[in-house]
Amino acid sequence: LPKDLIRISPTTWELPVTFKKGMLVPARIIASEKLINAMEDAVFEQAANVACLSGITGYSYCMPDGHWGYGFPIGGLAAMDPERGVISPGGIGFDINCGMRLVLTNLTEEEVRPRLHDLVNRLFSRIPTGVGCHGTLKVKESEFRHIAEQGSRWCLKKGYAVAEDLELTEEGGCFTGGDSAKVSNKAIERGLEQLGTLGSGNHYCEIQVARPENVLDQKIARSFGITIPNQVVIMFHCGSRGFGHQIATDYLQRFLKVMGPKYGLSVTDRELACAPFRSPEGQDYYAAMKCAVNMAFANRQMILHRIREVFSDIFHRDPFDLGLRMLYDVAHNTAKLERHLIDGAPRELLVHRKGATRSLGPGSPELPACYRESGQPVIIGGSMETGSYLLSGMTGSNATFATTAHGSGRTMSRHQAKKLFRGDRLQQQLEQRGIYIMTDSLGGLAEEAGGAYKDIDEVAAVTELAGLSKRIVKLLPMGNIKG
Ligand code: 5GP
Ligand code: MN
Ligand code: MN
Repeated sequence: LPKDLIRISPTTWELPVTFKKGMLVPARIIASEKLINAMEDAVFEQAANVACLSGITGYSYCMPDGHWGYGFPIGGLAAMDPERGVISPGGIGFDINCGMRLVLTNLTEEEVRPRLHDLVNRLFSRIPTGVGCHGTLKVKESEFRHIAEQGSRWCLKKGYAVAEDLELTEEGGCFTGGDSAKVSNKAIERGLEQLGTLGSGNHYCEIQVARPENVLDQKIARSFGITIPNQVVIMFHCGSRGFGHQIATDYLQRFLKVMGPKYGLSVTDRELACAPFRSPEGQDYYAAMKCAVNMAFANRQMILHRIREVFSDIFHRDPFDLGLRMLYDVAHNTAKLERHLIDGAPRELLVHRKGATRSLGPGSPELPACYRESGQPVIIGGSMETGSYLLSGMTGSNATFATTAHGSGRTMSRHQAKKLFRGDRLQQQLEQRGIYIMTDSLGGLAEEAGGAYKDIDEVAAVTELAGLSKRIVKLLPMGNIKG
């Protein structure tokens, strides 16, 4: 551990501004003793680099699932003063609006088990997976531009969504102000055929069960729609595919050109390329980024539509009869203008969340009425082996600009994991444990072994102890399609 690291509380560690030249604010890492001891050195360096960015307010944060990332750590959080501060693509990630969606059913494990293979196989054939996978829906360029500006609203208009799906999505499934004129043709070309696709690696669609012994808060679980013993739910994780990746790539290049010469900005790491938020370049990126955000919301909505079709086919019942309703959809790779209380006064801030989940506490007016009492549902993946969590936002998250963790976080690189685990063996072992997995990359599966990730129970517990998000239900995997 860095020798100037100070423990502020049982779950908060701080690197003072003296840790690195140029730090404008301290860096804070949310972690238990066990998690902080296992953090890579890169996390401390990267969190400190982020603390040097112009306009950063309060602290540069890293969540307990933090690990090395491009520029910012994954698990990184930075709130910028929009007038004086920068916007940085590295603080959002290449997979813009990568996020998690949780879908309810009224089926029990006992009802789903006998059909599990059919379900997983059918999901696997209906939801394309893999690096360059193409969707079953190809749209014209003009239509794609609508999708990029309207997000889930486009899906509602086309009959791929019901109104409730949008209400139960962060920001109603659309960041307003997306402008497809700010997006390159290359990005649009990459996006055209990718609607309704999962992508590769860490992206997944998982059938999970909420066992009664894993329901940790009965009252909130019930208000979230987890009401029957051994209820089956579906959690999926994906983002804006090649479209968002291209937008991030385009603007990183553009920012590198103007950052120093035009704006006199210097960064400790080129991966932190940025532009003043109020500059033309900064505003263009913000409007393009919103297009990727919207495409990702529409992408997840199309996948929900496919899931409804698949369950309906297998059980020969209407999807709404099967209780296939949204629980929530929340992003973990975005930047957004939000109001937060700073020293008791409301202020508008540009909140970068990169592998970090918004986590609004009870009473928050931005929440749909059904969740105002409980706080926002927070969806955190664990791994295909170990389980995942549904949590609810706590008021303590005011300290972290309403933010919590997004997963368990990797403990090793993909490369290392591939050397340690074997995909085919893993698939067999999991099948013996009642977890049925389909993938088109066994090598990719090895990189996703439970052992390549931190202990999800520990990460979830720390977010609760830190007052960011309360554990409601631990969800166990039954079946999974992996990218
Ligand atoms: P990221 O957004 O950083 O790529 O990944 C988010 C989190 O999803 C990871 O930190 C990991 O904990 C979790 N995750 C990755 N693959 C799976 C999976 O197949 N199933 C579940 N339940 N979680 C996963
Ligand atoms: Mn992603
Ligand atoms: Mn993600």
